[in-house]
Amino acid sequence: MPKLGKGPRANRALSPILFISDLHLTVDREWANQTFLRFLRSEACSADALYILGDLFDFWLGDDDLDDPFHRTVVDRLRELTDSGCAVFFMHGNRDLLIGNEFAQAAGIRLLPDPALVDVFGTPTLLMHGDTLCTADRDYQLFRAHVHSESWQRETLAKPLAERRAIALKLRERSETSKQAKPAQIMDVSPAAVEQAFTQYECSHLIHGHTHRPARHEHLVAGKPCERWVLSDWYQHGEYLRTAPTGWERVALS
Ligand code: MN
Repeated sequence: MPKLGKGPRANRALSPILFISDLHLTVDREWANQTFLRFLRSEACSADALYILGDLFDFWLGDDDLDDPFHRTVVDRLRELTDSGCAVFFMHGNRDLLIGNEFAQAAGIRLLPDPALVDVFGTPTLLMHGDTLCTADRDYQLFRAHVHSESWQRETLAKPLAERRAIALKLRERSETSKQAKPAQIMDVSPAAVEQAFTQYECSHLIHGHTHRPARHEHLVAGKPCERWVLSDWYQHGEYLRTAPTGWERVALS
């Protein structure tokens, strides 16, 4: 009997690996939702793997909200993609940090720690959501530590869904107001944190989102050229980073 190996993926060895983040999907952003659902059935279908680097949803109240019709649609469409042989990886953002194993199992995706070092066609590449690089924003880092604590997550998930929804809406409002009050510089990554990440993980490539400032940056770290790719949010248009043995490029979706 022939060995099946990796199944459908066996033919995909040289297929592109795609990266997205900061879609901020929510039931009332119909345009972004449809763009994403279409993307999963088109571009993503011919990819070897898709990495979602956080903030897929504008907020996620807990995996007990999976029965919400909009969430079910997204999960089913992800499942269709993973069943077809494209591996999908998910890293938490600050908005959807409560996505858990139940979501992962339903969608057939794998959860990644932040940061994660992966092999992209032979290039060791560091993946992050990006918020940990914004070290100049001390208030945010304190808040982040708080909501990442096991006790906060346990207590929050024990509250009824309706109460969690109210908390999420309040947090979102607070985040929007505080963003407007902060200088733009504070909201961006800090150069020292970027340099430290390259040094600590001994890599020359970094991909992250969070800042909503899509770009390709060149850095010189201890004399070594490094590249930092910042993913786009999905507010003006959908966009993904396409990596292939022939090169890397940001691709906009109409
Ligand atoms: Mn974010």
